[in-house]
Formats: sequence, structure tokens, C-alpha cells
Amino acid sequence: VAPLDIAHIRSQFPVLHQLVNKHPLVYLDNAATTQKPQVVLDALTAYYTGYNSNIHRGVHTLAERATTAFEETRKTAQRFLNAAEPEEVIFTKGCTDGINLVASSFGRSHIQPGDEILISGMEHHSNIVPWQMLCQERGATLRVVPISDAGEMQMEAFDRLLTDKTKLVSVVHASNALGTINPVEEIIRKAHAVGAVVLLDGAQAVSHLEVDVQALDVDFYVMSGHKVYGPTGTGLLYGKRRLLEAMPPYQGGGEMIREVSFEGTTYNDIPFKFEAGTPNISDIVALRYALEWVEQLGKTAIAAHEQQLLQRANTLLQEVPGLRLVGTAAHNVSVVSFVIDGGTSL
Ligand code: PMP
Repeated sequence: VAPLDIAHIRSQFPVLHQLVNKHPLVYLDNAATTQKPQVVLDALTAYYTGYNSNIHRGVHTLAERATTAFEETRKTAQRFLNAAEPEEVIFTKGCTDGINLVASSFGRSHIQPGDEILISGMEHHSNIVPWQMLCQERGATLRVVPISDAGEMQMEAFDRLLTDKTKLVSVVHASNALGTINPVEEIIRKAHAVGAVVLLDGAQAVSHLEVDVQALDVDFYVMSGHKVYGPTGTGLLYGKRRLLEAMPPYQGGGEMIREVSFEGTTYNDIPFKFEAGTPNISDIVALRYALEWVEQLGKTAIAAHEQQLLQRANTLLQEVPGLRLVGTAAHNVSVVSFVIDGGTSL
């Protein structure tokens, strides 16, 4: 792979062209949220200056343009995750929203008293709390796979905790705190062998790793647009058609219905069944340009560059007195965590 042209990439991010504390801005907080390249900002302006309109129901020119642009993002997202069909991509507000959708819709219809849900000790709060709430409501039990000192999931414990009571396994693909890439193929294979479905939290994975939901055979995959150079308030939930069709709607409202009467309502097909109300049209339209931008750079080139930076950062950080690196897993995305003597949060 040809190395990335870093100067050219930097030039595409307007936010980096400023001095902060009298220094050219170096932004390292990408695990929290990424900055946006010019193509994404241009897409937002183009939408609001050219074809702002509500989607799916209008028959006028702007509505058709907006609907086409919105659905174009779905096709791009399908390709980005290698989903079998665009209908398997549901637009959400982000990972948190996607996980809550699955916990609420799949969870309430499939989880029975006595069932178990398995997560790991390295989950983000958004992959803990919705399951706690669901377990409390349904009389189910949440089990947690511990992590080792190196920051890896303890697979012997996983094997022990995964039983025929386990109905759902929900784990992070790559950890935001440690960078650890989990052995998700093995987790999915073993979970399926006991009949459990698997949700992967891809918040930190999609900007670093090639994700192929069909090759993984994962049941649900969630990601946040803002962590992959797209706008805030956007996200994707991938779900297998068979599962999504068997799930009740998450929220009621416009868009998600086929016919409404006071006696009862029939629901729309997927994906619309899960997209009640006017969505975040502008930001979802712009998300397409972020995904295409990443595709153009290429995940292989991105990963190669990041691994170089990661090695350099780890080497240099180890020379800092009083600094201890946290998380030394064998497979890592470029997330670095450390504790430092006397450090305080800003
Ligand atoms: N999971 C992981 C691993 C994350 O890093 C984050 C964001 N820090 C989330 C979930 C939640 O994402 P969001 O706040 O965009 O919903």
C-alpha cells in the first residue's frame, strides 16, 4: 500500500488550521470524536443551501433530491459494513441509540426471566446500562467477562460464562479505553453455538479496521458517525434482516407506519419501521461523504500508518518519568492510555 499523504490529509481539516495555546493544533482526542474534513462540511452546506426538505413523503423536487441523498447514505453504509442489503442498515443517533434500540426492541421481545446477557469488563457505559435496565425489567441476569492485566478479554472466563442460558452477547469490537481488538470471530462462533445472538459495538473499530458484517456473521453491529469523521447525531445499526423483521418497533410515530387508524396500526417494512419521525436528514446526508472519504484513503493504508504512530507513541511515552501505559494487548487499534504521577484532568 502507498503511504498516506499526511500533509494533504491535514489540509482537508479546516479546524486544524488554527493556533491553540500559540501552537498549531494537534488533536489527539479522536476516540472521543473526530474532526470533519471539508467534504463533510461542504455536504452540509450543499444540503441546507440547495435542497433542504423533508424526505420520503413529499413529491416535489427538493423532497426527491433530499430523499435520494438520504438513501444514498444508506447504500454507502451498506457497502462500508458489507451488509447484504441496504434495508439492514438503520439510521440512529449513534452507538448509544443503536444499543438502546436493540435492548428495547429485541430485548423486550426475546429476553425472558432467567435468561442471561453477557458483556465484558471493558465495555463503554452505553454497552452496560441498557442491558442492566433490560435485565432488571425482564428478570434476566447480566454476566461480565473479566479482563486481564494486559487489557484482554479472559477467554477461559468467556467460555465458562457462555451457557445455554445466554441469549445475547454484547461486546466492544475495539476498546475505547485500551485499544484492545477483541477476538470477535471466536466470540461470535462460540455464541452462535449456544444459540445466542451477538451485538458488536463498533464505535472505535470502524475508523481503523475493515468491518465485514457478513464475513463476521454478526447479528447486530452499531457505530457512531461522529467517530468516523461524520457529523454528530448520526449512527448506524446493522441487523440481520431475519432478526429486524421479527422485532417490534422501537418508537412510534410518522415514517414507521404503513396505515394508522384509531383501532390499530400496521407498521412499515425495515428499515423504516425503526426510523420514527423526521430523521437528522442533513447530517445523515453528510455522513455518506465521511464514509466515502475513509474508503478512499483505504483502511489498509490507515491501519499501516496508525500502527507506525502507535509504536512510536508507545516507545516515546515509556521514556516519560512516572508514566505507565495501560493496556498492552497483542492486537490494538491506535488508542493509547496511560497514567502519570501527579496527573490531573484539565
Ligand atoms: N462505545 C464505545 C466503545 C465508545 O467509545 C463510545 C463513545 N465514546 C460509545 C460506545 C458511545 O458512542 P456515542 O456516545 O456516540 O453514542
